[in-house]
Amino acid sequence: MVIALDGPAGAGKSTVARAVADALGFTYLDTGAMYRCVALAALTRGEAPDRVATSVRIELTDAVRLDGVDVSAAIRDPEVSAEASRIAVLPAVRAALVTRQRELIAAGGDWVAEGRDIGTVVWPEAELKVFLTASPEARARRRSAQTGAPYEQTLAEQIERDARDGSRAQSPLRAAADAICLDSTGLRLSEVVAAIARLARERMANRPALS
Ligand code: C5P
Repeated sequence: MVIALDGPAGAGKSTVARAVADALGFTYLDTGAMYRCVALAALTRGEAPDRVATSVRIELTDAVRLDGVDVSAAIRDPEVSAEASRIAVLPAVRAALVTRQRELIAAGGDWVAEGRDIGTVVWPEAELKVFLTASPEARARRRSAQTGAPYEQTLAEQIERDARDGSRAQSPLRAAADAICLDSTGLRLSEVVAAIARLARERMANRPALS
């Protein structure tokens, strides 16, 4: 089974996706980490992002590895976050990363794939699609608690990234028509996890039997 979990930054997607994967015994796929790896490599190597996207080795296990080097912390740097959202508008970068994401999922197994375009582009046939949102203020509060950056600055950067993610020509951030929209403002993330895990179990129980 594939669960597609999309939504804007700071809605709690990563925490929720990881916890849902743990609860169900699924594998977690953090597609944002792939965009961040390409951004980091482009920044530090001075290479064109589209070249980087087709040439680097990205491993997403317990740690995120870029050509064998653990970059789990480096890719969370605010400079890399901003660059990731900039390179994510490039069609050649998206095409390369979407291909890699599809290959991973198609290899088999059960996945919780987290991103912006999983339900719309990467895996539209996902059995469960959730679009997780929260108010801009709640999202910025969560982000600034995570990163330690000031709230006002986090909110301003988030507004900029949201505008870029929502307005780009290719794969703008939007909910799939058949996605369940969940607003996590005022909810504990454990409640969101329980709701998604319940939906997934229901869908698994109601799957048509293979003949
Ligand atoms: O989810 P995360 O904040 O780690 O993603 C980093 C950036 O990568 C986002 O700002 C977004 O622009 C981009 N992204 C994307 N499509 C995805 C995942 C992330 O465009 N599926």
